[in-house]
Amino acid sequence: MPEHVYDVVVLGTGAAGLTAALRAAADGARVGLFEKADTVGGTSAWSGGTVWLPNNRHEMELGFSDSREEVLTYLMSLSHGLMEQPLVEAYVDTAPEVAAWLEDNSPVEFETLRGMSDYHPEHPGGKQEGRSLECTLFPFADLADWAHRVTVGWQITGEITMSESPLGRKAPGGVPAEGLERRKLRDERGAGQALVGRLLRGCLDRGVNPQVGCRGVRLLPGSGRVTGVLIEGPDGPFEAHARGGVVLATGGFEHDERLVTAFLRGPLARAVSVPTNTGDGLRMAMRVGADLTDMREAWWVATIDVDVDGWGRVPWQVNTERTRPHTIMVNDDGVRFTNEAANYNALGNAFHVVDAQRFAYVNHPAWLVVDHHFLCRYGLAGHRPPAPTPGWMIQAPTIAELAERMGVPVDALLATVERWNSHAAAGSDADFRRGDSHHDRACGDPAFGGTHQGTLGPIDCPPYYAIRVRCGALGTKGGPRTDTQGRVLDVDGDVIEGLYAGNAMGSVMGMTYGGHGGTLGPGLVFGYLSGRHAAALATRP
Ligand SMILES: Cc1cc2nc3c(=O)[nH]c(=O)nc-3n(C[C@H](O)[C@H](O)[C@H](O)COP(=O)(O)OP(=O)(O)OC[C@H]3O[C@@H](n4cnc5c(N)ncnc54)[C@H](O)[C@@H]3O)c2cc1C
Repeated sequence: MPEHVYDVVVLGTGAAGLTAALRAAADGARVGLFEKADTVGGTSAWSGGTVWLPNNRHEMELGFSDSREEVLTYLMSLSHGLMEQPLVEAYVDTAPEVAAWLEDNSPVEFETLRGMSDYHPEHPGGKQEGRSLECTLFPFADLADWAHRVTVGWQITGEITMSESPLGRKAPGGVPAEGLERRKLRDERGAGQALVGRLLRGCLDRGVNPQVGCRGVRLLPGSGRVTGVLIEGPDGPFEAHARGGVVLATGGFEHDERLVTAFLRGPLARAVSVPTNTGDGLRMAMRVGADLTDMREAWWVATIDVDVDGWGRVPWQVNTERTRPHTIMVNDDGVRFTNEAANYNALGNAFHVVDAQRFAYVNHPAWLVVDHHFLCRYGLAGHRPPAPTPGWMIQAPTIAELAERMGVPVDALLATVERWNSHAAAGSDADFRRGDSHHDRACGDPAFGGTHQGTLGPIDCPPYYAIRVRCGALGTKGGPRTDTQGRVLDVDGDVIEGLYAGNAMGSVMGMTYGGHGGTLGPGLVFGYLSGRHAAALATRP
């Protein structure tokens, strides 16, 4: 069997893998970077590309105040006993360094996502702005042949940055058409495309060429350590040996039904990540005795099934569709069950409620209910009247008829909408406090100037619409337990020499999500730490 020798082997080309490879190569390591799919970038390239790297230098430059202690206090206040303080400290201490190092040593260029708050800004140490960064537009022309080998998803395709999206503050009226045309000349892309494009350019500049269609399948043991990995490539299997270590940056296990059923705490009906994230890294680590942690958790999101040209029916992550006015969520009893504008990860808890008497997930699947005014003003998953109502949406001229078509009790839905409309008129949601958190208002309609009305608003403009909502995930959080350098620990708590986990590790975040960029932030940090540590082992004299 063919054998190749590297200093560091990285599996997976999402942001975590690219960062690990970049850091290791910058430290002088010879890096083998392998990707299972035929394109690079993973879910990171499909994403908004926002990174939550608190206490970063852009925050300081803009005059925001932040500190290590505040970030630590904030995160630990969300722990519920699931977060390991040393890992959290490693994250908090390294996050500002990673942001600065990437900018100083690669084409990565960040700017602050203005107006976007932490996901629990009222918790101690929480902030209303400053901790979330994103990359500036990146000309894919600079990637030459690689420009066409970066994966592109269906929801966020990179024509605009997140600051220019409805979530951001940069382009209240949208980016003018001539601006978009100009971007096409050099194929300038924002969001996750910009993050991956810039990291990839950085890797290529340092001589790291990803090898696609190469799936890591089994770790190679040798004298008490992991010495490499068996890879199935387009021309057959080969062994990639690693003097310093193997970094697992293979994403989660959300696309493996058996692992999902075995480990997750409640329904995960739709995964919105790349389909190649099937838990390969987890299985490899389990085979060599890794301890596991955070297995019950995922980065939960609410999803609806929509039709997208060229893709067919796909899950769509529901964001502003539930945080803006004139929209609510109800369960099959026709009643609201949560603050719809809460952050998406926290909403997972509402979907997972089991009624002890009925022994049923009473809020899952749920319904999104909006009125015509909402659709005309904001649109929904690419649809906006007067385009014909798509097949994935139920439409009715009255709330009563809508309830009948949804199959929920008519009287209950009528009462729910009437009560919601009275909350909207009063400017206060007495049932679930929607709009009381700065987070909800920041994700509302900016035209209302950060008031409750930016997220409240009556449902009173016919026709009315309903869409099934299912609990989904950006990815799972569980994986091998690691130390503060990303080194995988075994079931006795000892380091498995030569094995690292980037973002495929059991997440540092427990059941929480710090703020916009809360999944990519830890990916960058632990990718960076893993790459640096493995490179140091391989290159030390
Ligand atoms: C629409 C959308 C928007 C999002 N927006 C944001 C955002 O703005 N901020 C944020 O923080 N998060 C966001 N997320 C979530 C975020 O994209 C993911 O959590 C993140 O990309 C995970 O990074 P990663 O590098 O760990 O994994 P990935 O980017 O998924 O990369 C893993 C890679 O490993 C490869 N792989 C798997 N198995 C193997 C194997 N055996 N051998 C070799 N390669 C393998 C996969 O093919 C994949 O390319 C978003 C997600 C979506 C879908």
